[in-house]
Amino acid sequence: MSQVSPILRRGTGRYFHWCPACEEMHPLPDGWRFNGDINAPTFEPSFLQTFGEKTTGAVRQCHYFMRSRQIQFCFDTWQKRRDTIAMPPIPEHLRDTFGHETQD
Ligand SMILES: [Zn+2]
Repeated sequence: MSQVSPILRRGTGRYFHWCPACEEMHPLPDGWRFNGDINAPTFEPSFLQTFGEKTTGAVRQCHYFMRSRQIQFCFDTWQKRRDTIAMPPIPEHLRDTFGHETQD
């Protein structure tokens, strides 16, 4: 894992960004179309992230577009929001401690 910009980290086969709605890091897998700009990223198509406790059924989904450093939430995200926000920097406290992947 390595920080490639204030808003993106690089892991194995994917980037990660901080989602302020879920207060989690979400993966951005390679294979999406990416404009290559780590400071103003655009990915296509949209991301549908699911996370939570599958064993208890408390699974949430977060659905959004990422365009020009903007996160555009879709209505079927777990918070039922559809606003557009600027991607926030990865929180300071996660910059060093986040990283289950150490291969790189
Ligand atoms: Zn999210």
